[in-house]
Amino acid sequence: MKRRLFNLLASVSLALCLVVVASALLKVILPRGPNLPSFRAGRWACSLDSSNGNFEIRVGHDSAVPDIGPQFAPNPGGQFAPFTYTQAGLDWQEKLPRGAHWRSMGFHFDRNINMEISRTRNFVAVGNVFWIGAPLWPLLALLAILPIIRRSYQMYLRRLMKQGHCPVCAYDLRATPERCPECGAVSAKVAGISN
Ligand SMILES: [Zn+2]
Repeated sequence: MKRRLFNLLASVSLALCLVVVASALLKVILPRGPNLPSFRAGRWACSLDSSNGNFEIRVGHDSAVPDIGPQFAPNPGGQFAPFTYTQAGLDWQEKLPRGAHWRSMGFHFDRNINMEISRTRNFVAVGNVFWIGAPLWPLLALLAILPIIRRSYQMYLRRLMKQGHCPVCAYDLRATPERCPECGAVSAKVAGISN
């Protein structure tokens, strides 16, 4: 049971490892390519992204009641920005809670207010948005631990089997080659003859 769980975790780990590598490669080949999956559940949203050898998780949490601020002013001359800030909008934004930022060795954590512009051109503080980012290599190293342990254990078992140990539990079968006294596995040779 424990071994089955370990094998399952190792497989999941390996699969995630491959997904991370594949997505990083995809980002290199297609910088504007598809993003990693995103999920939404109620007022929570989560999305994954990877770029430039970094991995990023974005978690958004909408407030039950969005904080609706002043309207943007129309910006008739602005070709790329149809709206412009008003002093009231800037003052309102100034009073919102401050975000939090932390950066170290390619790792980062950010918390910001998630701002949107509503259809009525109002500033809206929708809720909080959190970013957790890390370079890919520690993540890959972490994800590779279980698959590497499993692989070396398999190689170790194979070596033991050649020396006459049980293929299931690695018990020394030199004294009882027909059946493993430890786990009850019937040796392949005996099973082959009895069929
Ligand atoms: Zn055995």
